[in-house]
Amino acid sequence: MDVTTRHIKYQADCDPSFPAAIKSIPGCEKLDSCIQCGTCSGVCPMSIYMDMTPRRVMNLVRYGFKKEVMASNTIWLCSSCYACTVECPREIKVTDIMYALKQMAIREKAYPRRFRMVVLANEFYKMVRARGRVNEIHLVTRLNLLTNPLEMLKMARLGIELIRRGRFSLRPDAVKDPQRIREIMEYQGNGNGRKEVATK
Ligand code: SF4
Ligand code: SF4
Repeated sequence: MDVTTRHIKYQADCDPSFPAAIKSIPGCEKLDSCIQCGTCSGVCPMSIYMDMTPRRVMNLVRYGFKKEVMASNTIWLCSSCYACTVECPREIKVTDIMYALKQMAIREKAYPRRFRMVVLANEFYKMVRARGRVNEIHLVTRLNLLTNPLEMLKMARLGIELIRRGRFSLRPDAVKDPQRIREIMEYQGNGNGRKEVATK
């Protein structure tokens, strides 16, 4: 016999500052006008893998169910294809809201320990900042060491073969002037245009 489980949500469990924080982000103000039509979920190519549809995430965000949203895999599976944003009849920037939720989760460390997606993003960022270029084998090695060292053993043979065939280089590559890359990254991180990038 199938058993139906109902989860009751209580208003006291909501975080009233959560919707306000998301709606204060440019482009996310229109969230309250969501009519729950489900178009975003219907066009989302990743929704079949998500534990919560984008429509549901939008609704939980506007009512302050932060814990549920942060625990969902939806924000991490969003591939930023913008289909939902293009199709939304209320012009809600669903993709930007997904980005905002990801940034919030990273800032508050609300993701599983050794979560590969976040570790990968951090290591990628550090590598680009240091050298202006990414070396795939160094990136994959660091990712596996920090998340699942046993994975290294499984991938060792493939890695050696790729190096042997010249598909992976062990030599770290760098742009001529990594400092310029750092300046661009700081410019982006400091509020889009509030800081001048020194020009040569
Ligand atoms: S498509 Fe827009 S209006 Fe419809 S459920 Fe998604 S966010 Fe809400
Ligand atoms: S941007 Fe994200 S949520 Fe929107 S349709 Fe694409 S994958 Fe789905």
